Amino acid sequence: MSAKPTKYIFVTGGVTSSLGKGIIASSLAKLLQARGLSVTIQKFDPYINVDPGTLNPYEHGECYVTDDGAETDLDLGHYERFLNVPTSQANNITTGRVYYNVITAERRGDYLGKTVQVIPHITDEIKRSIVALGETGKFDIVITEIGGCVGDIESLPFIEAARQLKYEIGEHNTLFIHLTLIPYLSSAGELKTKPTQHSVRTLSESGIQADILVCRTEHPLPPDMRKKIALFCNVQPNDVIEAIDAETIYDVPLLMKKEKLDLRALYKLDLYNDVEPDLEQWKDFLGRLKNPSEQVTIGLIGKYVELKDAYKSIAEAFIHAGAHNECKVKLEWIQSETLATDHYDERLAHLDGILVAPGFGERGLEGKINAVRFARENGIPFFGICLGMQMSVIEFARNVAGLEGASSTELDKDTPNPVIDMMEEQKKVTEKGGTMRLGAYTCELKKGSLAHQAYGKLSISERHRHRYEFNNRFLEPLQKAGLVATGINPETRLVEIVELPKHPFFIGVQFHPELKSTVMTPHPLFVHFVKAALKYSMVKKQALEA
Ligand code: GLN
Repeated sequence: MSAKPTKYIFVTGGVTSSLGKGIIASSLAKLLQARGLSVTIQKFDPYINVDPGTLNPYEHGECYVTDDGAETDLDLGHYERFLNVPTSQANNITTGRVYYNVITAERRGDYLGKTVQVIPHITDEIKRSIVALGETGKFDIVITEIGGCVGDIESLPFIEAARQLKYEIGEHNTLFIHLTLIPYLSSAGELKTKPTQHSVRTLSESGIQADILVCRTEHPLPPDMRKKIALFCNVQPNDVIEAIDAETIYDVPLLMKKEKLDLRALYKLDLYNDVEPDLEQWKDFLGRLKNPSEQVTIGLIGKYVELKDAYKSIAEAFIHAGAHNECKVKLEWIQSETLATDHYDERLAHLDGILVAPGFGERGLEGKINAVRFARENGIPFFGICLGMQMSVIEFARNVAGLEGASSTELDKDTPNPVIDMMEEQKKVTEKGGTMRLGAYTCELKKGSLAHQAYGKLSISERHRHRYEFNNRFLEPLQKAGLVATGINPETRLVEIVELPKHPFFIGVQFHPELKSTVMTPHPLFVHFVKAALKYSMVKKQALEA
C-alpha cells in the first residue's frame, strides 16, 4: 500500500435496477488490483432490514456469508470471486444497520440534549462506515456501490453522505461513476440517450456531478453518440464508457480495460500509473471456460430454483470448477417438490452428478431425500451442501441403517430417530436475525477420505449458516452401517462432512464451500465433484458403446 491517502470511488445506478453495478464495480476493482493497487468494495443496500439474513431468497437472491459471520448481499460474492480477497461485515451496510447504530447510540445517551436527524446523524454514520474501510490502512482504493437507482427516496441519505464526503476530502480523492442504460428502440432502429440524460440530471440535483458514465447497451455506441451523451451530461467523451452485453460476467474486466475505465478512474484520482495490468491468469481462466473439451450435466436439486440468484455462488463455483477441468457444466435446475413422487428416477436418470442444495423449511424435503437415494443406489456422483448433507444423512439412516422414520427435527419434531437435530445452543434462541451458526469454523479431515484427497490437507476452514446439525447420538449406528464422518469440528466435535466410501463419489458437507470458490482458486470440492461427474459420464458412454 502506498503512502498516499485512500481514495474513494462511488458507483451509482440510474434508469433501471439490475444493470450490474456489482459486476462493473468488481471489474474495475479487478483492473486496479491487476495494476498493483489494493482495493476493496463495499455495498450499501437501502432497505430497512439490518441485514439480508431474514429475507426470503425469492426476494433478494442468495444470502452471502463472510468469514466473520456477516449475512450479506450476494454482490459481495462477486467481489470475492473477482478479487480473491475476503470481505467482512464492513463491506455491506443497509439502511437498517445505519439506523440501528444511530438509535442504539441515542439510547446510550451519546447525543444527549440533541435532536437526532437524518442530516447530520444518519449521514455521519454512513460516512463513518465508508471511511472506516479506508482507515484500516489496508486499501489504496475503496469502491462503494450504492444500491438502487438515483432518485429513489431510500437511497437519498447514501447519496447525500457521498456528496458530503467529496466536499470534505476533495476533488481528486473521490470519484463518481454512474451506471446507466442506453435502450435500443427496435421500431426506430436507434439507441436512445434521453433516459441517461435524465438520470444524470437527477444525480446532479443531489449535488453530484457524475465523473464517468458507464453505459449498458445491447449495441456498440458510435463516436457521435458518445459525444452527444458527453455534451448533455457534462463529461468528456472519453469518460463515456460503453458496457456492451457480455457473454459471461468474467469478460467484463477485459471489456472495461478495452474501454480504459481503469485509466480514466486513475487519471481522475491523480493516481495515474503505467503498470500494464497483469491479467494472464484471468485470461487463462477465460480461455478454459470458453473452450471446453468435455461436457457434464449436473442436477441442482433445490427449492428456490425458479430464481437462479438464490443459488448464485453454487452456479459460479461450477463455472470455476468447470473451467479448471476444461469441461462445460450444464446445470439442470430441478424443483425438489417435483421429485416427491414414485417416478423421481425418470427425472434423474440422465444426470452425471447430483447436487442437493441448501435450504430452509419443510417444502421439497422428501424430493431431496429421493434424489439422494437415487444417487446413492446408482453410483452417481453426489454432493450435498448444508441441508443437502442433512438430507443425505436422513436418507442413509432410513434406507440403509434401518432407523425407521429417521428425520430432522426441522421437518418432524416428533421423529423417533432425530438424526439431524437443532444444536443445543440454538434451542434457547428466539430471535431470527443473525442468530444461526454463522461464519468460518475449522474442520479436521480424516486421512485418506475424499475430502482429504480434494483439499490436499487435513485442516480446513469453511463458512456456515444453519441451525441444525448431525446428531452425534446416532454417529455409532450410522458409522456401523457404512456412513463415515470425515470432517469434524475439533472444538465441538460436530460432524461437518459425511462420506460413503463404497460409493464412487458421495460427500455431504454441513458448511457452504461455494462461498469460497473464486476465479483464481476454484473450490477443491467442486473441482473434484466435476471430475467425478466427468468420469461417470465417460464410463456411461463407454458402456453404451460396448
Ligand atoms: N435448514 C437447515 C438448518 O438450518 C439447513 C440450512 C442451510 O442449508 N443453509 O440447519
